Amino acid sequence: MPSTRTDPLRFLSVELASLREQGLFRELRTLEGEQKARATFDGRTVVNLSSNNYLGLTTHPRLRERALEAVRELGVGSGSVRSIAGTMALHMELERRLAEFKRTEAVVVFQSGFAANAGTVAAILAKDDVIISDELNHASIIDGCRLSRAAIRVFPHKDVHAARHVFKELPASQRKLLITDGVFSMDGDVGALPALCDLAEEFGAIMMVDDAHASGVFGRNGRGTIDHFGLHGRVDIQVGTLSKAIGALGGYIAGTRALIQFLYHRGRPFLFSTSHPPAVAAACLAALDVLLDEPQLIDRLWENTRFFKGGLQQLGFDTGASESPITPVIVGEAPLAMKLSDRLFQEGVFAQGIGFPTVPRGKARVRTIVTATHTRDDLQFALDVFARVGRELGIL
Ligand SMILES: *Cc1c(COP(=O)(O)O)cnc(C)c1O
Repeated sequence: MPSTRTDPLRFLSVELASLREQGLFRELRTLEGEQKARATFDGRTVVNLSSNNYLGLTTHPRLRERALEAVRELGVGSGSVRSIAGTMALHMELERRLAEFKRTEAVVVFQSGFAANAGTVAAILAKDDVIISDELNHASIIDGCRLSRAAIRVFPHKDVHAARHVFKELPASQRKLLITDGVFSMDGDVGALPALCDLAEEFGAIMMVDDAHASGVFGRNGRGTIDHFGLHGRVDIQVGTLSKAIGALGGYIAGTRALIQFLYHRGRPFLFSTSHPPAVAAACLAALDVLLDEPQLIDRLWENTRFFKGGLQQLGFDTGASESPITPVIVGEAPLAMKLSDRLFQEGVFAQGIGFPTVPRGKARVRTIVTATHTRDDLQFALDVFARVGRELGIL
């Protein structure tokens, strides 16, 4: 190639320079060793308040053992998409076990929660349909909505009255999907599920709940927010993830057998992307056993949540509307959130800074996530560092 060729991607450098100017450019932190409550990132051992490893299952001995067994017996890959030669007995067993756990007729597992959301919304809706969606729903829902080509009507966060207003303007004959997160990932608050189920029933809409952050956290043995609120049978499409509390990787849709069979035929990530390695399915099966046999892990998670959230609030931080192990510390503008995150890290606490566009302007924050495996010492240490750095930066 002649060296005179100008780089057609040079506009990306301009974009990056702009991120740097706004204080939004981030280097990736690198984890050295295991994902756990005290972990080593970039050579520094810190109290880790940034993972979704709610129950410590990423390193649980039962999951490790089952994954290793699967590798020894079955190898490292599935070699095909599910709909051709890549459905292994372990995949079917996992779907059966998940359906039993969620008390639905059937389940289909996707490669990730992202693929489950995007693939499902895009598959079941089309151009003439309409999606009624909470403004803070996860990016994978938003992408699924766009891929479906349905009309998208966004309502203000958890505003059931506003959602109702949207419904009233829509023709009765139009196919409708009402969709919300069970737990919102940036604020840690819980969706208005009972009222939204009422609304979906009143207007004949399909009801869909994304329980990624509630899987393994809310409900009996971690069955999610539908179980937490006693809404079995009223949510047509439940989304769960296997990547957060379950400790491995994947996402799933729980619902009727017809829904699942339809997704076997029309879910594009199911049809066109290779299925999980056997070790992943095996680890998820072991995780289900742990959820049923060791409910004390979930109790510990909630004890730690109360202790840490209460501690942050007593210090005087703005923790928003959080009701889950996700507690944001909202500080205002992005550069201050990034500065807080950097200083916390230097002092031994890893809590990710998050700014626009992930959260609205003026609502930048560091996000904390406690797990069952944090000790009281870990959490008290983190609170002490938050107090010191918060004062230093004039936030407290
Ligand atoms: C994390 C998350 C997902 C994506 O799940 P993955 O399994 O990590 O792809 C989907 N929805 C919500 C609300 C999430 O928080």
